[in-house]
Amino acid sequence: MSVKRVNMSFDNILLFTDLDGTLLNKKTFEFKAALDLIKNCISKGINIIPNSSKTDLELDEICEKLEIPKVYISENGSCIYGLNFLNDKLNEKICLSRNKETIFKNFSDNINFKLQKKCLILENETLQNQIEVLGLPKNKISKAMNRKFSMPFIFLGNKEEELELKNNVKAHGLNIQFGGRVLSLGDKVSKGNAMMRFISLLSNETKKNYVSICVGDNENDFDMLDKCDYPCLVKNGPLKNINFKNQCMVSKKEAPDGWVEVVNKTLNIIKEVRTR
Ligand SMILES: [Mg+2]
Repeated sequence: MSVKRVNMSFDNILLFTDLDGTLLNKKTFEFKAALDLIKNCISKGINIIPNSSKTDLELDEICEKLEIPKVYISENGSCIYGLNFLNDKLNEKICLSRNKETIFKNFSDNINFKLQKKCLILENETLQNQIEVLGLPKNKISKAMNRKFSMPFIFLGNKEEELELKNNVKAHGLNIQFGGRVLSLGDKVSKGNAMMRFISLLSNETKKNYVSICVGDNENDFDMLDKCDYPCLVKNGPLKNINFKNQCMVSKKEAPDGWVEVVNKTLNIIKEVRTR
């Protein structure tokens, strides 16, 4: 009897995940329902890499709670942390963005002043306003506001002016991203580009071919969903009708259950492919 050789190793799987609205419930920030699956993934050698608009300080804390290594991408693709954990030849920190001061100087020097005045920069607001806008408890605000590469803001103009602002910003080598609650001014970076850089740096050292799974819920996740092998979208509000390069798995439930739903289904598909 011939035995089919089965390669069930999962250690070339990189699972990039957004947090708010994807792994963490949008309103309660709850994630307990995903902990078993996360543990299971880690034990199989799957790397879980948060790719979020959050800061490094917030991500450190979340990785501790999720009991995963501190390997992540912060501030919407601005900086990669912890690659040295996966391969000791790689740097602990790889920044893809210029610092916040440079970005803000570029913004205030070049952007139409009428539009600038309609941007309510969150770090200049009172603590109470920051709490309300971010929906975070008081004790989480300082880590959330400790940004190195980006500046969250609220835009007080209309949709037309918002588009004008985005184009104006783009023309000056900057970028505005929407993360679900607020807009964020940053360098010309994205979660997808940071993910691709992560994968290429790692595979250059390890000579492995990686399979990427991406999980997201919002428009600032779309470019990483488009660039990965297995895109997954967690339901958050009305269903979004978007076409990615590869067929997208869409959850019926919201976070964190929706995260478990799409990750399980995707891992089953990968298993199936590998036992064929
Ligand atoms: Mg999100």
